[in-house]
Amino acid sequence: MNDLPCPSCRAPYPRWRIVFTPGVFRCPSCHARLTFSLDSMRRAGWIGALALFASAALADLVLGFDQLTTWRFLAWLLVFALVLGQVIRAIVGVLVLRDDLHRLDRPPK
Ligand SMILES: [Zn+2]
Repeated sequence: MNDLPCPSCRAPYPRWRIVFTPGVFRCPSCHARLTFSLDSMRRAGWIGALALFASAALADLVLGFDQLTTWRFLAWLLVFALVLGQVIRAIVGVLVLRDDLHRLDRPPK
């Protein structure tokens, strides 16, 4: 996987670090606050929903429908969804400056 460029200084941000970082990031070189663009979050949401649906359908085939409603399976599905969400964000995510979302608060550069 290639690195994501910081939108402010173009310093690469390693994707594997995104997997372990929830929410807002800080660029290691210019310390700008970074977050994901709305478009990439929407894309990640779609892919995640499809992947979860596919895995639930697969689990239905492998384990049988009875297993799908047990708390154990639901707990695993929840953990799987959280991990999957982080990984998908790291793959399809596009970083933007977080301050762009509050541009009215401060004058543009
Ligand atoms: Zn930067």
